[in-house]
This record gives sequence, structure tokens and C-alpha cells, in this order.
Amino acid sequence: MTVSIVLYTSDLRVHDHPPLRAAAEGAEEVLPVFVRDPAVDKAGFAAPNRLAFLADCLADLDRGLRERGGRLVVAEGDTVAEVRALARRTGADEVHMAAGVTAFARAREARLRRALEADGCRLYVHDGVVTVVPPGEVLPKGSDHFAVFTPYYRRWSAEPVRAALAAPRVLHVPRDVRSARVPRRSDVADVSPALLAGGESEGRKRLGSWLTDHLATYEERHDDLAGDVTSRLSPYLHFGALSATEVVHRARKRGGAGADAFVRQLCWRDFHHQVLAARPGSATDDYRSRPGEWRRGADAEADLAAWREGRTGYPVVDAAMRQLAHEGWMHNRGRLLTASFLAKTLCVDWREGARHFLGLLVDGDIANNQLNWQWVAGTGTDTRPNRVLNPVAQAKRYDPDGSYVRRWVPELAGLDAPAVHEPWRLTGLDRAAFDYPDPLVDLSEALARFRQTRGID
Ligand code: FAD
Repeated sequence: MTVSIVLYTSDLRVHDHPPLRAAAEGAEEVLPVFVRDPAVDKAGFAAPNRLAFLADCLADLDRGLRERGGRLVVAEGDTVAEVRALARRTGADEVHMAAGVTAFARAREARLRRALEADGCRLYVHDGVVTVVPPGEVLPKGSDHFAVFTPYYRRWSAEPVRAALAAPRVLHVPRDVRSARVPRRSDVADVSPALLAGGESEGRKRLGSWLTDHLATYEERHDDLAGDVTSRLSPYLHFGALSATEVVHRARKRGGAGADAFVRQLCWRDFHHQVLAARPGSATDDYRSRPGEWRRGADAEADLAAWREGRTGYPVVDAAMRQLAHEGWMHNRGRLLTASFLAKTLCVDWREGARHFLGLLVDGDIANNQLNWQWVAGTGTDTRPNRVLNPVAQAKRYDPDGSYVRRWVPELAGLDAPAVHEPWRLTGLDRAAFDYPDPLVDLSEALARFRQTRGID
């Protein structure tokens, strides 16, 4: 009897899953495995929102495998030791897994390969499971990655994309392999009250209905904060409950300007993955040389705390930060303007903001979070690193009637636009009617400080 192990990491699905398909086609029995590894938690994964979403994904993956005659085996401990022990126990001669891009994932792959090979078992690492185009597949002349998005997008768009694979119809799992209990969402404390439900089934349902209802208007409406009509597929993509390849095929099939704009956003995801794969250190180190000094000390700490808690006195910033705490998710426009506010208006180190986001975001991911933060902070791949987003102008443009602010900042629920975006302009009784902080900083003073720290005349 030939046995292959499928090691699941951030690819928690049965549809369009090259490692599962390869294992099912190449061996008589397949053992799907997920390892709860404390080292992953230590590497920054252990945020309650993601643990809760992960629990949903694992339960749903187990269901999806069982529908095909299989099941998920959950192990706990060091991934390499656990997979090696399972391979020995079942006599597996192959292990299949998705390629990762982080330094952690790559070191784990290398260790696993060595350990398995010592036992005569082969590790197959599959590209194109997490991203549409594997990192390193398209390259500019003379470099190991694209540092600018637009030329990458051009090349990425011209790449042939492999067809999406159907889920295997039947799986046979070796008997007598024990599994730890599949974790449950209810095991996790401190989860954001309005966290989305996770899992492949939920992701597929959302994908189908969102494509039907919103893809066509995505181009015009993706920045509408109150409209909230982006796909919210990011957590399903982060956990691999949905395949980015399948999402691209399904969007392109519908066509139109909405599909083009949406697929372009998915290209940003691949773009950041290929940067991180080539520069794993950019998860923490500035991608470009340091732009200037960050503020430090008690004042900066106090500003950072106000930003985290959504009480900067800039309503749209506070609204977005409160959305993050309540949902474990934030609209992209909110992410852009809150990140710019921290790193440029307050001149606080982007790493502080990225850490706070990673503590809450259900889609929080090293490639997308760290490199988007660097992009906004001007230490990353933005070709205009010194642009600063003005929170008032952003609010008037992307929340013109103020509904987004009123939804998340109930203290201001009685105000209409434009007053709701600049409540400090109200005077007397009007101002006394609500309990909301004054702005943390004057925007023109902040801009002057920013320009000074960056040495701009
Ligand atoms: P949609 O607008 O429906 O876009 C579809 C998909 O495209 C998204 O699900 C996502 O996978 C991808 N995408 C869209 N925009 C980007 C982008 N700028 N970079 C990379 N991929 C993108 N995204 C994450 O998935 N995880 C993160 O940790 C993360 N942190 C961010 C931090 C900052 C400071 C900023 C500015 C952006 C961050 N993003 C992150 C990117 C983006 O904000 C989210 O992917 C998006 O808001 C998710 O919502 P959606 O699924 O409705 O997006």
C-alpha cells in the first residue's frame, strides 16, 4: 500500500489544491495533516481572531475531507518531528505541501526535507498554491524580484494561469492514525465581536454571491468606506480556504472593468509575496534605507495609544481603528489612511502600527501587512514615498455623507457631513454636545514635522 501525506499550512481547502491532487493521484492512501505548532504562534500567528478563524477553517476542512471518505489528522508539536513520526508510522514515502514565502516557512521546509530524506521519504513543495503566479516566476532583468508594482502587474497579467483543479472525488486514509481534537472557535477567548465565520464552505459561498452582486461595480465602489462593498475575501485567501488562482479565473470569466480592477488587487497580493520571498528580512527591516527618525518617548507612546484606541480626534481615523477592533478587519481605504496617520502624521515607527494590526486582523499576514505598512510609511515599494494622506480630505472624499464615521463613532452620531469630519470646528453648545477628543495634532504642524524628519525642503 503506498501512502502520501499532505501537510496543510496556509492552504486549508480541498478545491484547487495541487498537493492534495498530486497525493491522491500518486498514492493509494492519503493522510491529510495539520500541525498546531507552538513555533508558528511564537512567529507572530497567535492572535485570537486568526486562531478563531483557523478553528473554523480546520473544522470545515475536516468536513470537506470526510465528504470524500477522508478526514483531517491534527497533530500538536514541532511540525518536522510530527510529520516525520506520521511518515514513519504510516510508511509514507511522499509528503506534499504548499511553498511558503516567509523566512519561517522556508526554514521549516528545509528542516522537513532533511528529516524526511534521512528516512527515505521525499518532500514535494508545490508552487502556485498560495499565490497565482509563484514568487520568482516573473522577474525584471538583473534582479531577483520586482520592486515596482506597475511593471510587475503588466508581466503578471500576461502570465498563463494554470487551470483550477477540482477537489478529489474519493480519498482513502490510512486506518488507526490518531488525531488530536480539531480546535473549535469556542476554545478561543478575546475574539472580536463581529468576526466573520471561517472555512472553505463560507469562503466559496461568499465568493459566489459577491461576484454576482458586486464585481460589476467594484471599480467605482471599492473605495466607498460606508458602502463596504469590497469582497472581504482576504481572510479566506490568507488561510487558503479559497484559492487565489480560482478566484482570478472566476472573476476573469465574468469580465468587465470591475473584474479587471479586482484582479489587479489580487496582483498586489502576489506582488508583496514575491518581494517578501526575495527579501525575507523586509518583514521587520526597512525595505529601503531609513527615511528619517521616528519619534520616540512618552509623547510618541501616548499618541500611539490614542491611535490604537481610536481616539485621535480625527473621526475617520478613529472610525477605522474601531472597525478593526470590532470586526478584526478594516476596509482598505481605512488601512491606508490610518497607517499614513501613524507613520507620517504622527511620525511613529511603522513596525508599531504593523504589530497592532497583526494583533487584530483576521487576514493579518506577514507579506501583505508588513509590506503594505512599508508602502504607506515610505520605507517600501511606493514610488512616491513622501506622500501624506490628509485624514480630513480622505474622509470627505471616501465618506462624503459621513455614514462610515457615524457608524463607528457613536459620539458623533448626531452630526452631519461635513461637520462630522471636523467636529473641532464647532463652537459653544454645539461643541459641548458631544464627548469626543480634540485632534491629537494640528495637520499643518504635523506635515512640517514630517517634512523635517525626512529632510524635505
Ligand atoms: P478586495 O478589495 O475585495 O480585494 C480582493 C483581494 O485582493 C483581497 O482579499 C486581498 O487578498 C487582495 N488585496 C487587495 N488589496 C491589496 C493590497 N493592497 N495588498 C495586498 N493584497 C491586496 N491584506 C491582507 O490580506 N492582509 C493584511 O495583513 C493586510 N494588511 C494591510 C495593511 C495596510 C497598512 C494596508 C494599507 C493594506 C493591508 N492589506 C492587507 C491589503 C488590503 O487592505 C486588504 O487585502 C483588503 O482590505 C481586504 O479586503 P477585501 O478582501 O474586501 O479586499
